[in-house]
Amino acid sequence: MINTQEIEKKWRDRWEKDKVFESNVNKKKNKFFLTFPYPYINAYPHIGHLYTLMRVEALARYKRMKGFNVLFPQGWHATGSPIVSAANRVKEKEEKQIKIMKDMGFNDKEIKKFEEPREWLDYFAPEFEKDFREMGLSIDWRRQFFTTDINKHYDKFIRWQFNKLKEKRYVVKGKFPVVWDPVKKCPVGDHDRAEGEGVTHKDFIWAKFKIDDSDLIIMSGTTRPDALYGQSNLWIDPEGEYVIVEVDGEKWVVGNGVVDKIKDQHTDVKVIEDIKPEELIGKWVQGPLVNRRLYILPAGFIDSNVGSGIVYSALEDPVDLYELDKIQKDVETQEKYNLDKDVVAKLAPISIIKIPGMGDDLGRDIGEEFGVKSAKDVAKLEKAKGELNKRVFRKGVMKDNCGVCKGMSVPEAQELLKKKLIDDKDAIMFYELDGKVVSRDLNECVIKIVEDQWFMAYGDKEWKDTVRDAFGKMKLYPEKVRPQFEYVIGWLHNWACTREEGLGTRLPWDEKWLIESLSDSTIYMAYYTIVHLLKDVDPYDIDDNFFDYVLLGKGKLDDIKVDSDLVLRMKDEFDYWYPVDFRNSGKDLVQNHLTFYVFNHCAIFPEDKWPKGIGVNGWVTVDGQKMSKSLGNMIPLRDMSSKFSVDSARFTILNGGEGMDDPNWDSEFAKTFIVKLDQFYNFCVEHYGKGREEYKKVDRWMESKLNEVVLKVNSFMEATLFRSSAQQIYFELGNSLRWYIRRCNGDYNKDLMKKVIESQLLMLSVYCPFICEEIWEKLEIGGYVSLSKWPGVDKKKINYKLDLGEDMVRNSVSDINSVLKLVKIKPKRIRLFVSLPWKYELFKLLGEEMKKTRNPGEVMKVVMSKNEFKRYGGEISKFVPKLVASGKVSDRVSSCQEEFDYLMEAKGFLEKEFDCVVDVIKAEDAAEKKALQAAPGKVGVLVD
Ligand code: ATP
Repeated sequence: MINTQEIEKKWRDRWEKDKVFESNVNKKKNKFFLTFPYPYINAYPHIGHLYTLMRVEALARYKRMKGFNVLFPQGWHATGSPIVSAANRVKEKEEKQIKIMKDMGFNDKEIKKFEEPREWLDYFAPEFEKDFREMGLSIDWRRQFFTTDINKHYDKFIRWQFNKLKEKRYVVKGKFPVVWDPVKKCPVGDHDRAEGEGVTHKDFIWAKFKIDDSDLIIMSGTTRPDALYGQSNLWIDPEGEYVIVEVDGEKWVVGNGVVDKIKDQHTDVKVIEDIKPEELIGKWVQGPLVNRRLYILPAGFIDSNVGSGIVYSALEDPVDLYELDKIQKDVETQEKYNLDKDVVAKLAPISIIKIPGMGDDLGRDIGEEFGVKSAKDVAKLEKAKGELNKRVFRKGVMKDNCGVCKGMSVPEAQELLKKKLIDDKDAIMFYELDGKVVSRDLNECVIKIVEDQWFMAYGDKEWKDTVRDAFGKMKLYPEKVRPQFEYVIGWLHNWACTREEGLGTRLPWDEKWLIESLSDSTIYMAYYTIVHLLKDVDPYDIDDNFFDYVLLGKGKLDDIKVDSDLVLRMKDEFDYWYPVDFRNSGKDLVQNHLTFYVFNHCAIFPEDKWPKGIGVNGWVTVDGQKMSKSLGNMIPLRDMSSKFSVDSARFTILNGGEGMDDPNWDSEFAKTFIVKLDQFYNFCVEHYGKGREEYKKVDRWMESKLNEVVLKVNSFMEATLFRSSAQQIYFELGNSLRWYIRRCNGDYNKDLMKKVIESQLLMLSVYCPFICEEIWEKLEIGGYVSLSKWPGVDKKKINYKLDLGEDMVRNSVSDINSVLKLVKIKPKRIRLFVSLPWKYELFKLLGEEMKKTRNPGEVMKVVMSKNEFKRYGGEISKFVPKLVASGKVSDRVSSCQEEFDYLMEAKGFLEKEFDCVVDVIKAEDAAEKKALQAAPGKVGVLVD
């Protein structure tokens, strides 16, 4: 067995010594620039990182061998709460964090050191580098760096970025809602969260309903301001607790449980006193938009702690309608609350929205459609309500009784009303979280409106349009992820970009603030292009003029304090390497970082520097949860080399999935793959450079196969489908090669064998570079496999008929073996029957038709409409429907004569395999029943 750890070290050292992956400007070569998001250095890297990283690494190695000048740099993220909160949790001896530290192997004394945020940086940045190096990643290590003002150069870069953003008014101060940690008293962005990444605020309208002859106003929350035109009554929780609060001079009645939320969104809030539901039920109120007064009724489905605690009823809503049915029949409740029976009896739906295909009583119609009998059918009612809301939103038109909204679509009406109601002071905007959020300090978060805060203006319409344009021109891997980005762009609003505590860069014009982690990480890929040269520059000489000149080509060289030659070199680097061709991340960053990345590039750089391609992939999971440093559920990278070998781990992880699906980490596979790689080594050493000189017919198939595999791998690689290409490179090509050797009786062609082994080594080196370098050296091919040229494709050599023929020989061998297993005799003679000619015509037709439909009935109809097949109708109806349903029909079909000739050529091989006479007979020349069972690609077998 090969000592994998020994060869890993050997090749790592050689690459380092020969600067194999250091990338320098070379204008004669096309460049390709790839990046993996710099991870937070708050624990060791894990195999979740490895999957996402390996997609960058595999493409980098492929492109390098394809002749591109490739840049793959790597940095570390130390900004903000992922590090500071972890340090705080250590300080507070929080159980889970201590367990994470212990699981990583730290003792109590060492753990204590991590109370200091700086320790994380000093400890983990080198550890990350060590682990990444160990994985054989083809990174230019001269360009690594970490963030925050501890790195004075990077600090200057981020200051420059923020000055640019401010100039363009993309950083603004304003009064906006943010997700807020009430204990730490700071905004909680996506990466400040232990739970609830992506959760945002949902906008509600709280409409005002003035109680008759009183200064009290009932607040009723809704997402459907359009339905206010159909308002019929108010619902209140008869068991609930209500309270009067004075907000900005008005006296509101709301549920007791929502007072704290109001305080987070309004500054001037005073609780006056409790008010009992009975004091409200039966009162009359006047709401916005319509000129009628509403009656207040009790309802079982209201919870005084949800929303504002009071709901207005519009009887087009099935939940409201069936609740009304209930109370109209419930005399006891009417009496209990002393309700006016006449008023209750007269309440009826007011039709305000027309939906094509539905009547005027939407609530009743949808209720009946979903089988609702009464208000007790809660689940059905919820479904009915959901469906009606969808229809209303997509197809509803506001009727003539809807004032200014008459004739509008419902979404139009909602937009207009939100603004109008607030402008007219008939409502306020109220924000709620659309899910639970827990900060990294483990506090449950709320929505708060903050004023003294800086925001990235991601809600800006023009900015969004530019970003849409950029995405339109960008390649996405896979394309399927595009709608998600479009959704995020549409939904994004102002983003709180500063914090008061933590590690990071200070806002240049307001130094009380630190820039948070998702905001100091949006254009740093540009920094990679110059960082290795910047290290020699005194940070005090770096100012905005410097970055303006190097990164934007603006200003004069004379205004820059840094040495001019160096500045020009840096400008050259940036101009050559930028833009980024491929940035790849797990899907968690679609909703924040990856989108911000494009926003910020569009804001700062001209169009030719905007990102060209983004890759997104699924997650390595543990028990259905994302493997994450902060969750502590990780398999660390540092175990890979000793447990599986790095080559095996790299192959296993990429072979575990592709596209957006969550990949699978299969440690059993990784263990067996070590053995496979060892066998591969022996195979190459045994066969390379041996064989005959003569080129025989049987070699043509192997050559065709090799070219076909390389062609397929090329297209898979370009599409970042690394699982599919792994399958081709290792399994498909390996199996074919073994079959080829068997077919030649071990007497293979020397040059072809060399070519196949070299091609396989080249392609496999993307996944398993250590063993491939080792074999490459052993075979004395010359140079590094990692820097060699990717195998070419000669399309003329690809011949699918050879493939069909060879498949048939292979299938015949396995069919004969199955028969022999059954009959259990030593054969004297084997007869192989080649199918009847009409079946080839039939299969061709099936192949064509199945491109149009997979429906057996439809295919049968076409087949039976052809005269030439009518007379075989009985037989056809027995097997064609099944065949169509199985989907196993190809449009590539041989002919009876070709199959016959191919098998005749393989006769010698088959006779040797089975040590007996083999006769190949056309079914049309045979009397045996067996002959009729033969089909294209599948012979009938008789053994004597
Ligand atoms: P944290 O737990 O602190 O949030 P993390 O373990 O999720 O950290 P990051 O440092 O935030 O990792 O992520 C860096 C990159 O690694 C991102 O592109 C992210 O999508 C990717 N990544 C992280 N975890 C996984 C995973 N389990 N599967 C695939 N990719 C992952």
